[in-house]
Amino acid sequence: MLDERIITKAIVENYTQKFLDFVDMDVAIVGAGPAGLTCAYYLAKEGIKVGIFERKLSIGGGIWGGGAMFNEIVVQEEALPIVEEMGVSYQSYREKGYYVLNAIEFACALGLKAIKAGAKIFNLWSAIDVKVKGEEERVNGLVILWTPVEMAGLHVDPVTVESKFVVDGTGHDAEIANVVVKKLKKRLNTPTGDVAGERPMWAEFGEKATEEFTGEVYPGLFVIGMAAVACYGKHRMGPIFGGMLLSGRKAANLILERLK
Ligand SMILES: Cc1cc2nc3c(=O)[nH]c(=O)nc-3n(C[C@H](O)[C@H](O)[C@H](O)COP(=O)(O)OP(=O)(O)OC[C@H]3O[C@@H](n4cnc5c(N)ncnc54)[C@H](O)[C@@H]3O)c2cc1C
Repeated sequence: MLDERIITKAIVENYTQKFLDFVDMDVAIVGAGPAGLTCAYYLAKEGIKVGIFERKLSIGGGIWGGGAMFNEIVVQEEALPIVEEMGVSYQSYREKGYYVLNAIEFACALGLKAIKAGAKIFNLWSAIDVKVKGEEERVNGLVILWTPVEMAGLHVDPVTVESKFVVDGTGHDAEIANVVVKKLKKRLNTPTGDVAGERPMWAEFGEKATEEFTGEVYPGLFVIGMAAVACYGKHRMGPIFGGMLLSGRKAANLILERLK
């Protein structure tokens, strides 16, 4: 005999416990795209308490549609060790150095690996602001709001979570870095001091820049993936995803060093 009231209690109790546990965490990642999920995996597997806040119902960000809805993606040689660690199957394309993956398998695998490593994903939460602390106004948490509240434009106050580091994995819009510039009125550690905006397509340079410019863009705030490309005004790269994986892993390693 199944009792609907018990089902309701089980869901609400478990979610509430999980959420309360993550009012305080080591690393809060905004965005469950490929860069965010990879970063979460490499942090969680080292025992770091990491939560991801994802605006949408689904994780995976820009993965699912592959290139122009052909749901296949490409990675390059440098990222293959990560692809293998994630347990994703791939095929060598006939041109040397290009590997093709199924976008659906890739998105599912990244999500599962991050979760199994211990990362907690909070979907349907939008990060709308940062929490700051100290004289230098270091970023040390997020202000978050249920996405449906945001979408409906309801007059409802958000809540706040605290973390030692925040990671902006919000993709093209670099939403959290933009909060620091526009709302906190601070300069980022970029040549222009703000979010320069991505430049036109050039896969070779875009991919290299994605990893190279991953880092702490403001005290307490790291940028990864397309958010890093946008902050530093680097080239977009199209549906090749190696840079996103390398960026996520690099940020995790940088943060691990800082947490030691
Ligand atoms: C119009 C368009 C153009 C694209 N062009 C390129 C391109 O040139 N090169 C390229 O490699 N890829 C491109 N993509 C695909 C995709 O953006 C990237 O390849 C890749 O998915 C980026 O990975 P990411 O992890 O940095 O961010 P994304 O995959 O974009 O993931 C970001 C995630 O953050 C979430 N998010 C954003 N803001 C918030 C917030 N405030 N709170 C909570 N969650 C938030 C989003 O819902 C999303 O799930 C494009 C996608 C679109 C839609």
